[in-house]
Parts: sequence; C-alpha cells; structure tokens
Amino acid sequence: MEKIMQGRMDRGFERYQKEYEDKALEVLRSGWYILGKEVENFETEFAEYVGTKYSVGLASGLDALWLAFKVLGIGKGDEVIVQGNTYIASVMGITINDATPVFVEPDEHYEIDADKIEEKITDKTKAILVVHLYGQAANMTKIVDICKRHDLKLVEDCAQSHGACHNGQMTGSFGDFGCFSFYPSKNMGAYGDAGAITTNDPELARLMKIYRNYGSEKRYHNMVVGANSRLDELQAGLLRVKLTHMEDITNERYELGRRYAEGISNPLVIKPTVAEGSTCVWHQYVLRVPAKDGEGQSKARDEFRQYLEDNGIMTLIHYPIPPHRSQAYEYLGLPEGSLPITEKYANEVVSLPIYTGMTVEEQQRVIDCINAWKG
Ligand SMILES: *Cc1c(COP(=O)(O)O)cnc(C)c1O
Repeated sequence: MEKIMQGRMDRGFERYQKEYEDKALEVLRSGWYILGKEVENFETEFAEYVGTKYSVGLASGLDALWLAFKVLGIGKGDEVIVQGNTYIASVMGITINDATPVFVEPDEHYEIDADKIEEKITDKTKAILVVHLYGQAANMTKIVDICKRHDLKLVEDCAQSHGACHNGQMTGSFGDFGCFSFYPSKNMGAYGDAGAITTNDPELARLMKIYRNYGSEKRYHNMVVGANSRLDELQAGLLRVKLTHMEDITNERYELGRRYAEGISNPLVIKPTVAEGSTCVWHQYVLRVPAKDGEGQSKARDEFRQYLEDNGIMTLIHYPIPPHRSQAYEYLGLPEGSLPITEKYANEVVSLPIYTGMTVEEQQRVIDCINAWKG
C-alpha cells in the first residue's frame, strides 16, 4: 500500500507543470535576475489579490516579520503581544529586533484569544502580532478595535493563511503590515525561499523597499543599515503563475477540510472548528488527542500517530515545543506551566495529511483508518 505523506509538493507542481516550466525558461533567458519586471508585476498582482495598495517582495517570511517590526521602529524596551502557540519564526521576528514577546493563550480555534489581549497590555506594548495559525483568520474585528483604542501597531503573520478571510476581508489587509511566507510547503508555495509584505501605507512600502536592498533607494546611497532580502525574479515569476491558480488551490483546501470534518467521527479525537465570521484555508488540518489529567504529553496522541504510521499514513506535530519552552527562549524565564493552554495543545495536537492534489481515495483511507482507531 502506498504511503500517504503528511504534505507533498510534487502534485501541486505537476498540475501546472507546463506553465511553471515556461515561466522559468522565460526568466532564465531574460538575462535579468534580481528586482526586475517579474518582481514588480508580482507585487502589483499580489497586492490586488490581498486587497491592499502595496506589496513588497522579500526573501522569506521571517524577513518579512523582522523587517516589518524594524520599519515600524519597534526594538529594545518595546513589547509585542503574540500568541503562545505559534511557529517560532513569529517570535524570532520580534526578538531579532531586541523587542520582547509577551505571550497570550490561544482560543478553542487555536487562534490568539482576543479576550485575553488587553490584560497583557502595558505602557511598553507597541504592537500586536496576529498569527492566522493553520490557515484560519483570527478575530480581526476585536483585534483591530483593541489596536485602535490602545494606539498599537498591528502586524499579521499570514505565512499559513493565504486567502483566508475575516468578515469577507482577506488576512494581510487589516494591519500596518501583512507578512507572508512562500516557503514551498505553504498554501501559496514558491520553489525556493520567498516572502512578501502587504500594506496600505505608501511610506511603509517605500521604507520596506529601502530596507530589503541594503538600505538604499538610490544605488550606493545607503540611508539606513538594511538587509539583503530581495525576492528573486525566478521565484516571483513562478509565484505569478501560482497566483493565477490560487482560487482553485484554496477551493481544493476548503473541500479537503470539509471532507475531513464530515468524515471523521471517532469520539477519541477532537476536530478543529472555525470561528463565526472567519474562514480557514486549511494550511493544516489539526486534530487533538487528549492527554489524561497530569500526563503532560498525550500518550494516546503518540499511539494514534504510531497506529496511523503502521497503516502507511504519515502525520506531523505543529508544534511539539512552544516557543516559550524552546532553548532559544530560555532567557525569557517562562517555566513549564506558564502558558497552560498553549502547552496542552502542544502535547495533544496532530496534523493530518493535507496537500494540493490529495485524492478522494487517499483522504478516505485516512478517514476510515481514524474512525477504526480503538484507542
Ligand atoms: C513558515 C512560517 C514562517 C516563516 O516563513 P519562512 O519563509 O520559512 O521564513 C513564519 N510564521 C509562520 C506562522 C510560518 O508558518
């Protein structure tokens, strides 16, 4: 029996292979590889897709986060509010700038709990970083309101949420900056590292273009200490191709999410739910297998994963160690138990196979296998 991978990228490539190959050859033969017409066109088209005035292509999602806080002038002595259960890159975007992350627990949809944000605001708080985790838009109505009332900057981490909406508005268009990753396994993946920001502010877009290119607007006139974080022409060209198919790619994800939701009926696992007003583009479809009281890491979760693997079905954990418990952030001094919900989720979550080109038969095999699990 063929193995079902947790994520795979070959099917997504093969579906539009001819278009990608034609574009790659076009760029290779153009004789122009950095900051040319592909990047410029991509920026226009991507901003239009997200519904913002501007987009700036960058080298990665982490760079987008890092440079967003840098351009907003957030650094040493400043606090940024972020959810505890995120990929560590979200937190690194804050701490590379010497700012301090202040963690908020997630709600039952795995998104930042908007009702627990205000109690964390101090006179040092400068911004909120919202991560639309697993592809679900967070409660932006509440969060935008909090930012307005407390005069805070708003940055969105959209690395997992391309196309996801809150009340019909796309993630990446609510804040000062939307930060996107096009890492190959993301819903809108490139064929190498790539990222971008979106914004409605012309000055922020201009500054971002300066920072990505060694701090210069005019060649050899360096205004600030910037970075080399340019999206390259080849990736921009390939992303332009993918963008024309994003509606289909996203609709397929909705369908995969719907089939899991309808098909999985084993009471031993907890299925993800989508908050009213939000959509989820199912970057990951994340179940929870509850731990026993006081157990810490769920033994049942580990047995569940082993059982699926024995049946040729691969899963992953997003993420086994929350950022505040990682070695990198030992210096924050947050012991075990300081974010109980975040830690509970880390101990219980398991991500099912989901990818562009997943067949009905493959998905049915996963569903049947889960439903047959006796615990
Ligand atoms: C992937 C990811 C990033 C980082 O993106 P890179 O392009 O790999 O640097 C940041 N935040 C989240 C939530 C991610 O999933």
